[in-house]
Amino acid sequence: MTRIHLQRTVLGCAVLGWLISAPIMVEPADHTGHKLSETEFVLGNVAFALMHELAHVLISERQIPIIGSEEIAADHLATIFLVRGESTDPNQNTRLKQYAVMTALAFAGLWDFANEIEIRSPYWDDHGLSIQRYYRMLCLIHGSDPDAHPQLTIGKALPVERARFCGDEFTKANRAVDWLLSTYGRKTLDLGPALETTYEEPRTRVEMRLLKAVRDRRLIELTLTAFQERFAIESGFSVAVRRCGRAEAGWDVARRELFICHELLGAYHVLYLRASTRG
Ligand SMILES: [Zn+2]
Repeated sequence: MTRIHLQRTVLGCAVLGWLISAPIMVEPADHTGHKLSETEFVLGNVAFALMHELAHVLISERQIPIIGSEEIAADHLATIFLVRGESTDPNQNTRLKQYAVMTALAFAGLWDFANEIEIRSPYWDDHGLSIQRYYRMLCLIHGSDPDAHPQLTIGKALPVERARFCGDEFTKANRAVDWLLSTYGRKTLDLGPALETTYEEPRTRVEMRLLKAVRDRRLIELTLTAFQERFAIESGFSVAVRRCGRAEAGWDVARRELFICHELLGAYHVLYLRASTRG
C-alpha cells in the first residue's frame, strides 16, 4: 500500500463552531514578547507544514537513510531550516524564527485543547504526541541560541532538566542538516524541474482570507524556490492547496502531489483564537 505522509490536527468540525465563538482577549507573543497577528500565526504554521512535507519529499526522492522515526526527522529538518533562516534579509530571518515559535505554540495549544474536550490522544501515531512535538521544537529553538531566547515564555515552560541539553540537541541536528546539504545539496545553478502550485477556491470566508495572505506573501512559491536551491530533486511534483474534508497536509508519493488542505487553515485559525483567549 502506498504510504501518504500526513500532518494532521485533531480538530474536528464539531468543535470548530464552539471555538470560533471564543472572544479574542490578547494575542500570542513571539520569542521577543511581541504580539503576533493571526495572519503571522497562520503563515508560520503553514510554512512549517510545507517544510515538514518537503522533508518527506527529500527523504523519499533521495532515499535518505533514516534511523528512527521519519516524522521526527521531518520535524527536525523543518525546525532547523526555520531557525537557521539563511536569508540575506535579516527581517526575513527574524520572521522565520517567529514561524518556528508559532508552530510550537500551535502544538501546545492543540494538546491542551484535545485534553479539554477529551479527544483520546493518538499514542500510536508516528508523529508523536503534539505536546512532545512542542517540546522538541522548543528545545531546538532554545538550543540554537540560549542567550537570544533566555526565557521562552510561550505556552509551557521548558524544564531545566531538558533545557540544559538543548544546545547539544541543536548542534547534532544542525550538523545533520549540514551533512544533508553537502551530500544531497544542489551542485549546479539549474533549479531542476519547475514545480507547479495550484490553488482551489476555498469555501469559507476564513479560509479565503487566510489563503489570500499565504498567496500575497508568496509563501509557498518562495519556500519551494529555497528548497530547490538547496536540494537536487530529479523529478518534478505538484503542490495543491485544496479542499480535502480534513485538516491536514501531506505528501502523496503515488500522485507526486504535496497537498495543503483548506481545512488546515481553518484549524490554525481556531488554534489562534484559542491561544488568544489564553494569553
Ligand atoms: Zn510527516
